[in-house]
Amino acid sequence: MAQEDVFKKLVSHCKEYGFVFPSSEIYDGLAAVYDYGQMGVELKNNIKKYWWDSMVLLHENIVGIDSAIFMHPTIWKASGHVDAFNDPLIDNKDSKKRYRADVLIEDCIAKMDEKIEKEVEKAAKRFGDSFDEKLFRETNPRVLEHKAKRDELHARYAKAMNDVDLNELRQIILDYEIVCPISGTKNWTEVRQFNLMFSTEMGSTADGAMKVYLRPETAQGIFVNFLNVQKTGRMRIPFGIAQIGKAFRNEIVARQFIFRMREFEQMEMQFFVRPGEELKWFEKWKETRLKWHKALGLGDHKYRFHDHDKLAHYANAATDIEFEMPFGFKEVEGIHSRTNFDLGNHEKFSGKKIQYFDPELGESYTPYVIETSIGVDRMFLSVMAAAYCEETLEGGDSRVVLRLPAAIAPVKVAVMPLVRKDGLPEKAREIIGNLRFDFKCQYDEKDSIGKRYRRQDAIGTPFCVTVDHQTLEDNTVTIRFRDSMEQQRVNIDQLQSIIGEQVSLKSLLKKIVE
Ligand code: ATP
Repeated sequence: MAQEDVFKKLVSHCKEYGFVFPSSEIYDGLAAVYDYGQMGVELKNNIKKYWWDSMVLLHENIVGIDSAIFMHPTIWKASGHVDAFNDPLIDNKDSKKRYRADVLIEDCIAKMDEKIEKEVEKAAKRFGDSFDEKLFRETNPRVLEHKAKRDELHARYAKAMNDVDLNELRQIILDYEIVCPISGTKNWTEVRQFNLMFSTEMGSTADGAMKVYLRPETAQGIFVNFLNVQKTGRMRIPFGIAQIGKAFRNEIVARQFIFRMREFEQMEMQFFVRPGEELKWFEKWKETRLKWHKALGLGDHKYRFHDHDKLAHYANAATDIEFEMPFGFKEVEGIHSRTNFDLGNHEKFSGKKIQYFDPELGESYTPYVIETSIGVDRMFLSVMAAAYCEETLEGGDSRVVLRLPAAIAPVKVAVMPLVRKDGLPEKAREIIGNLRFDFKCQYDEKDSIGKRYRRQDAIGTPFCVTVDHQTLEDNTVTIRFRDSMEQQRVNIDQLQSIIGEQVSLKSLLKKIVE
C-alpha cells in the first residue's frame, strides 16, 4: 500500500477509535488544532509518564516544574522570540497557497537524496552479494552527479538561511524550478518573514491592557525559574529542570495531522552545566535520548540524527532526532546546546543577577545549557504510525492491529465473559475488580468473541482475558496475546504477574540505563 494511503487510514483510524478528533468538529473544525479522545488521552498520558519518569526518577539531579503559560512579555524580548521567531513564507499566486520557503527547498533536497538512494538500491539488486556499496557511492557517475547537485543546493540554502537572505531563498526556489504542488506553477511572490507567536491582551483596556504572548516553547518558564529551583532545591551543577506543557505557534503551513499543530504540547528539559563542558553534555544527552526512543521497540532503523545547518540564534550545536513517519523522516525531538544565551539575556533584561556560585571552582558564572525538547503530539504520531498494521490472517480473514508498546497502550487488559449468562459476567467483573488498581481494564460482553478481539486489537490492548464455564470450576481463564494471537490457559491468580511484567514502565526505563 502506498505510504500516503497508510497515512490516510491511520488518520481515520485515530478518529474511529477515539484517539484524535479534529477540534470544534461540529463547527467544521479549526485548522491545525486537535482534541484527544478517550483512547488518545490514555496513550498521551502514558507517553508523558514515560518521559517524566525517565527524567526525574532516573536522575537524582533532575527535578520538574510546572510554570504558567502566560509570562511577562519582556521574557520574549529577552529570549529573542519577538525579533527572531520567524518563518520565511512564500505564496503561489495561482493556487493562492502559502508555503514555508525553507520547507520547499528542504523537500527538494530530500528528493535529490531519494534519487541517490534509488541508484544504490538498483545497483544492490543488480550486483547481489558482490555489491560494494561504499565503492559504488564513491565512483558511480550518476550518483556523483546527483550528489554534486545536491551538495551545491545544500550549501546555497544553508548560507541563505544563516544570512537570513530572503531574496536568495526565493532565487533558489526559482533556479531549482520548484513548483507549487497544487497549481504546478512557478508563479511565486517575494519571501517574507512571519512571526509565529500568538498574542493577546491581559487586563481591561481601562487599566491599560498589556500585550502578552501564548508561550511558543516551555523552555523560558524554566530559565526564569532557574534561581528559584537552584536555591530552594539546593541544586548543584550539573543539574536539570524538566517541564511538560502546552506551547502555541501560529504555523503558516499546518499540515500532516498532529505533526504540525498550532496548539501542542512539549516535554522539555534544560540541563545546566559549567561553561566549556556543554559539548560533552550535548553528546551525552544525544545518546540518552536516542536510547529512550529505541527502548520502545518501534524499530531502531526508524531513527536518525539530523544535525542543523542553520543554528538558532541561541545555539552552538543542535541536532534533531528524526523518525520515519509515513511521509518520510521527520523531526520528533530537538537537542540543542543553547550556550548561556537565555540566562545571560534574562539577567540583562531583568536587571537581576542570574549566576551560579560553583563551590568546587570557587567562582560564579552564568551556566551553559543543553536542552532536550520533544513534542508529545509528534511522539504520539510516531508511535501510532509504527504501531498501525493491517494483517491478513489464515483463512483469508484480516485484522487491523495497533502493535503499541504494551507499557504505553491505553488499555492494558480486556476481560470478557464468553456468554452473557451463567454467572460469567459476574466472574469477569470480579477479575476486573482486582486488576483495576494496577491496570486500565475494559469490560466487553457484546458480540462474538472474535469481534471483541478485533475491537481490542484496533486499540492496541495487549491482553484479552476470556472467562468461560471452566473458569467457574477451576478458577482458570484464557489469556490471549495481541501480537501472536496465541491463547494460554492460566490461573486467575497468575494474571497480575503475567500482565504486570509486560506493561510496567520499569522494563522500558531499565533499558535506558543499561
Ligand atoms: P519544525 O522545524 O518542525 O518547525 P522546530 O525545530 O521549530 O520544528 P523546536 O522549536 O525544536 O521545533 O521544538 C521542539 C519540538 O517541539 C519539536 O521537535 C517537535 O516535536 C515539537 N513541535 C514544534 N513545533 C510543533 C508543532 N507546530 N506541532 C507539534 N509539535 C511541534
